[in-house]
Amino acid sequence: MDTQGSLPIVQCVARARIPTTTGPDIFLHLYANDRDNKEHLAIVFGEDIRSRSLFKRRKNETQQERMVRGAYVGKLFPGRTVADVDENLGLELQFDNDGELRVEEKTTWAKKDTLVRIHSECYTGETAWSARCDCGEQFDRAGKLIALDREGDIVGGSGRGVIVYLRQEGRGIGLGEKLKAYNLQDLGADTVQANLMLQHPADGRDFSLGRAILIDLGIERVRLLTNNPDKVSQVEHPPQLHCVERVPMIPLSWTSDEDGIHSSEIEGYLRTKIERMGHLLQKPLKLHTMENVPASSTTITTHTII
Ligand SMILES: [Zn+2]
Repeated sequence: MDTQGSLPIVQCVARARIPTTTGPDIFLHLYANDRDNKEHLAIVFGEDIRSRSLFKRRKNETQQERMVRGAYVGKLFPGRTVADVDENLGLELQFDNDGELRVEEKTTWAKKDTLVRIHSECYTGETAWSARCDCGEQFDRAGKLIALDREGDIVGGSGRGVIVYLRQEGRGIGLGEKLKAYNLQDLGADTVQANLMLQHPADGRDFSLGRAILIDLGIERVRLLTNNPDKVSQVEHPPQLHCVERVPMIPLSWTSDEDGIHSSEIEGYLRTKIERMGHLLQKPLKLHTMENVPASSTTITTHTII
């Protein structure tokens, strides 16, 4: 896996405001790239975090075309005709002679530490209510922490941040192979062994697209939401992109009996992550005690790591 190789070329195709059921508006960015044909996404909190490739002026384009692809400042409203100026909010974008967006404090977020999660698609965990992994919970937690000012010891994003959403299901092996790996897990393998038995790498993900997308969004200093120490170096791309902090994401089930995912599968999954993939979690991992372990899972007993 390349960590410092050449970056893919990414192009933000469209951006749109999405009102959410739980919190602030977010801006969904869809990206094309020169490495694959998948529709990778950036879920951006903050109207002023701007994609350089989306906002760059294009030859002979109209203001209407800019608004339709989402390259506008402020807020759209019925009858608005100019993308680059929002008179209601007193905002105006400026561009250099090449049509590149000028970064100005009033209109465009720059150079501040930004809370970021690089998230890999997980259909089962995010859509099909799977309790085999904690992807859905981590995705929700990332959005919540970006929206919040603070939660306990963790300084939130106060409404500014990015979740880069990469279409690499099942650590990059795809959904079909992931389902086969689940059957191997039901036959006794752990997540790493199952991938290896199917002739896949334990982790086939590539985060270079994530780096390219963050750079396109003008993010320079990342506070990375992850328990995975490897991800810190995978996000770095000096001199444009630096990871200045790793913000751990403690599973909710460790601190609450009601919230989070409580299943023997998830605890086996987290244990594998910690023991075999080097994930650093700050709280002791307490797995099921004997009283609430299903008969089929009696090999999983109380287990603590420091
Ligand atoms: Zn998952």
